[in-house]
Amino acid sequence: IRASASPRRPPGSAEGAGLSVLVTGAAGFVGTHCSLALRKRGDGVVGIDNFNSYYDPSLKKARRALLGSHGVFVVEGDINDGRLLAKLFDVVPFTHVLHLAAQAGVRYAMENPASYVHSNIAGLVSLLEACKDADPQPAVVWASSSSVYGLNDRVPFSEAHRTDRPASLYAATKKAGEEITHTYNHIYGLSVTGLRFFTVYGPWGRPDMAYFSFTRNILQGKPITVYRGRDHVDLARDFTYIDDIVRGCLASLDTAGRSTGTGGKKRGPAPYRIFNLGNTSPVTVPTLVSILERYLRVKAKRNVVEMPGNGDVPYTHANISLAREQLGYKPTTSLEMGLKKFVRWYLSYYGYNRGTHTFRNS
Ligand code: NAD
Repeated sequence: IRASASPRRPPGSAEGAGLSVLVTGAAGFVGTHCSLALRKRGDGVVGIDNFNSYYDPSLKKARRALLGSHGVFVVEGDINDGRLLAKLFDVVPFTHVLHLAAQAGVRYAMENPASYVHSNIAGLVSLLEACKDADPQPAVVWASSSSVYGLNDRVPFSEAHRTDRPASLYAATKKAGEEITHTYNHIYGLSVTGLRFFTVYGPWGRPDMAYFSFTRNILQGKPITVYRGRDHVDLARDFTYIDDIVRGCLASLDTAGRSTGTGGKKRGPAPYRIFNLGNTSPVTVPTLVSILERYLRVKAKRNVVEMPGNGDVPYTHANISLAREQLGYKPTTSLEMGLKKFVRWYLSYYGYNRGTHTFRNS
């Protein structure tokens, strides 16, 4: 663990910032990409993930293997395990924590509410406890979500907009996370940066997300369910490509500033920041399907139904002025370009045969 956490520049990599980062949720979609990017520029990375079965565990194992081949070690464990976290901080003086572990997904909360409390509330507090007790205290950068804007109808969403009307339990736990992290910043001097990601997509993505599950169904000739809002309005999302999100995360780590506490005691004020990380150009779900059809070269069987009111919001759109100004964040990947890369990865990862419409790897 110590070796993978000590900054060391692999051959051919860009100059790193010399960070030593604990990445939680490292075997997840965003965690894998961020860990690889940090490693590539020569920063030290250790991951932790509980490899839960919310979606295909074999995909998480494949990501772990990919990370391993790039020198990133992922500890299998839960962020609620305070003793394990204390041990990790004991072995490695992490300068930063990139906290991405969470129970994601909006609709799953109706079936399994406890998992949101476990990972997004109790797990967050457990992690912050370990961070505040660590010496040195790391700076914490963590994933909030655009879902905190909830039933807000002022668009584009900017960080100053109200976030007191969440539409799902997932959103409520992310909003609570913003308040919980604020108290640790205030009381213990932890440097905190919360990032409100807007619908992230790309290679190695999450099978529970629409663009991913649509792809499989379209290829298999199965119908896809496309939700429509009230009055026949199409849902739209500010789809943001993974590489843009990764750049935003790395810029947040690089500019996080120091935590000011030691051994659980605050020594002075520390930064508390929140940024939107989106793409600033929402696209409707039917348009997303049309782009997929073009790259997959298969027509989708669309089953259009009214949104059942299960936590989804009709529209998301990020105002990214603050991130642009303070992080130099500038998304560069259009949905067309990003989906092209996703489809290329998908076909190759699952070994799709266009002739027989079958997958070599299920
Ligand atoms: P993901 O589900 O692929 O990754 C999360 C990882 O955390 C998983 O590998 C899971 O096994 C792990 N995990 C969950 N609970 C844990 C626990 N208690 N202890 C240890 N590990 C645990 O999700 P993702 O898409 O990579 O999302 C990363 C973060 O970004 C999450 O916090 C998510 O809420 C947030 N986010 C994602 C999106 C998106 O569109 N992907 C949008 C907004 C916010």
